[in-house]
Amino acid sequence: PPTPLPVRLRAALDALPAYTPGRPATVREGLVAYKISSNENPFPPLPSVLDVLREAATAVNRYPDMAVTALTAALAERLGVPAERISTGPGSVGVLDQLIRATCDDGDEVLFAWRSFEAYPILTTMAGARPVMVPLGPGDRHDLDAMAAAVTDRTRLVLVCTPNNPTGTTVGAAELDAFLDRVPSDVLVVLDEAYLEFVDDPDAPDALAVHEARPNVVVLRTFSKAYGLAGLRVGYAVAHEPVAAALRKAALPFGVNSLAQAAAIASLEASDELDVRVKELVAERERVVAALREQGWDIPDQQANFVWFGLGDDTAAFAQACDDEGLTVRPYGTDGVRATVAEPEANDRLVEVAGRFL
Ligand code: PMP
Repeated sequence: PPTPLPVRLRAALDALPAYTPGRPATVREGLVAYKISSNENPFPPLPSVLDVLREAATAVNRYPDMAVTALTAALAERLGVPAERISTGPGSVGVLDQLIRATCDDGDEVLFAWRSFEAYPILTTMAGARPVMVPLGPGDRHDLDAMAAAVTDRTRLVLVCTPNNPTGTTVGAAELDAFLDRVPSDVLVVLDEAYLEFVDDPDAPDALAVHEARPNVVVLRTFSKAYGLAGLRVGYAVAHEPVAAALRKAALPFGVNSLAQAAAIASLEASDELDVRVKELVAERERVVAALREQGWDIPDQQANFVWFGLGDDTAAFAQACDDEGLTVRPYGTDGVRATVAEPEANDRLVEVAGRFL
């Protein structure tokens, strides 16, 4: 037999952080199973997007456009920013990975609230940097005061997820501004707006305007959620030119594939149609939240395409109760459960399970 890996190497590899794998839906006879654990868009791709994908598929013997020229130009026009300020990547998680690798040396700090998106500590640790996690404050909202106080001279990046995954809460425009005033201008602040399109809080910040006024602010967005292209992996950052250029340097060549580029452009062109779907999902979210509150659940104001149940020690039991009814939700340790707003039948079933659980 081959000699096993040396113990130290083995231990170092085993210690690497890992993503929680998705759980398969529990399928029961006569019960449609719903995976509502990944905040996916339940609507299938638009016919116009499928047409473009079929066409793009005929040329996959060629590499994609490495500079992502057409999509970048389409985004620049849509957002009203120069193309030099946009950098795309394989999902916004890919862009975030580029940003952390481009800016952090060993031992540098990446600051973010916790709980938040599980990729934050993983990407940070993988890059040799140190995650600094500041507990969420009352109402499962960002504690921006505590975050400002946690900035040190090793802090390179601050990640502000708004709406926050998994708690669904946003930061307010005024509190964000006050926070940014306190962050040194050589620390980059990422506004992760993966769920932006679902926000209807008039108090939410206008991230592009904030970015315009502050060169250290980076806006991170994705085609995975409202645009329904999660399977194609495409996201982008809007950042001032030197930062956007650094992102492009840190990107793997050809990271955004040709199908993703084509579908993203087609989706931008179909944004009116997609917006109708987003509005339906937002209406469903409000319906679900109202029904849960009626049952007695304490649900914070929800601004994304999911609902957060702060359950403490009941987290695993609630996830199991959902599983038993064919709903795969996302449990978080002993913090709570996140459930995606999906088809009305899935949402109804969630409300029903929640009502029985109380
Ligand atoms: N940011 C947040 C807050 C997310 O929840 C997600 C997806 N779960 C992402 C970024 C990454 O999405 P993607 O890589 O598909 O763009």
